[in-house]
Amino acid sequence: MEKIFENTKTAFALKSDTELDRAYFLFKMIQNEPLVRIGTAITNFALKAHMPVEHLIRASVFDHFCGGINEEDCLPVIEKMHSKHVHTTLDYSVEGKEDETQFDLTVDKILQNINFAQEKQSIPFAVFKPTGFGRIDLYEKVSNHIELTKEEEEEWSKVVKRFDTVCKVADDKNVSLLIDAEESWMQDAADELIEEMMEKYNQKKAIVFNTLQMYRWDRMDYLKALYKRAQKKNYFIGMKVVRGAYMEKERERAKEIGYKSPICDDKQATDENYNTAIEFMIDHEKLALFAGTHNEESSYQLMELAKQKNILKNDNRLWFGQLYGMSDHISYNLADAGYNVAKYLPYGPVRDVMPYLIRRAEENTSVTGQTSRELKLLKTERKRRKL
Ligand SMILES: Cc1cc2nc3c(=O)[nH]c(=O)nc-3n(C[C@H](O)[C@H](O)[C@H](O)COP(=O)(O)OP(=O)(O)OC[C@H]3O[C@@H](n4cnc5c(N)ncnc54)[C@H](O)[C@@H]3O)c2cc1C
Repeated sequence: MEKIFENTKTAFALKSDTELDRAYFLFKMIQNEPLVRIGTAITNFALKAHMPVEHLIRASVFDHFCGGINEEDCLPVIEKMHSKHVHTTLDYSVEGKEDETQFDLTVDKILQNINFAQEKQSIPFAVFKPTGFGRIDLYEKVSNHIELTKEEEEEWSKVVKRFDTVCKVADDKNVSLLIDAEESWMQDAADELIEEMMEKYNQKKAIVFNTLQMYRWDRMDYLKALYKRAQKKNYFIGMKVVRGAYMEKERERAKEIGYKSPICDDKQATDENYNTAIEFMIDHEKLALFAGTHNEESSYQLMELAKQKNILKNDNRLWFGQLYGMSDHISYNLADAGYNVAKYLPYGPVRDVMPYLIRRAEENTSVTGQTSRELKLLKTERKRRKL
């Protein structure tokens, strides 16, 4: 397979020299762990003290990782990306409080996103997190089949209703809906609910997508069992396949409570598990795959698998996805080669998006390989332009 991801000209075609320099400077800072720690503390303090730091945050880290403070604000970014055939999944990244009013507000926001996406070729997906619609402890209880109190039963029926409302509108408007995966101890309840939604709304094509975290060693068995059930009932499966974002938390909890960790033993095992899942998805009928990854090898492998199976590059059942502000060399080169690509574009009021931004900074600090890869690519492009 030709190594297309090395093409930095295509990867950064949308970035001006100044934007390229800003990105380089940003990743250089993020690479510095003490700086990220101190920076995070100062920013949190400044925001709590209502100091006027929002402009500074916007000009630096926010604009690199986020599209804007609301949907309209994101439009220039969406259109710019689309000019290079890169699509957008608008990700409302406000991490809300756990109360019923907030959950209803999140539902409204997702409905607004679906409407916004309708008839915009540049936005083929909407997305939400299960914990945006209900309390994590409630999902956990349902996952463990613990008897609910009367109030909890009522509360759960509202969660079910929220899922059904957004899935129905997504189906009506023909906008596919990605549902993120979160902590393993609440996931069974989400899985069951999403399976119901798939059965209801994925009769003609994949509208509703669940997410498989392949750092979990049990997910291949789940995928195979789900596939059997879907075949029997004759509906499509939509699946976002990722490695998983909560590894440390999962391992710590398993150790603390004393159960077998749900996470693969090492990175190689996760990588193999991931690649087995995408192979299964490509190998079977009535499946639509959204590969959410920044991993070059997995992306090359998926391109190769699709080629072997004579799946067209722009087949609507195959999508690649990365996060905005990261791995442009994968997104833009894939889109340039004719593949379907949709980047998650987080947005929301600056102070509400801070937890998301801090996670990105911390993740890039800990995943040293990824940051040095970004820096290397940016450096190569700066050099190329100077020549
Ligand atoms: C579009 C998109 C959507 C996403 N949606 C979700 C979501 O819904 N839920 C979610 O949880 N995450 C989600 N993620 C994040 C994703 O799960 C990964 O954390 C992130 O993409 C890094 O993994 P990678 O495949 O890009 O590749 P890599 O950088 O090659 O892999 C890093 C990942 O490998 C795994 N890993 C690392 N070290 C070890 C180890 N020692 N043992 C076992 N496994 C290890 C971890 O999962 C780690 O995140 C999403 C990512 C993208 C791009």
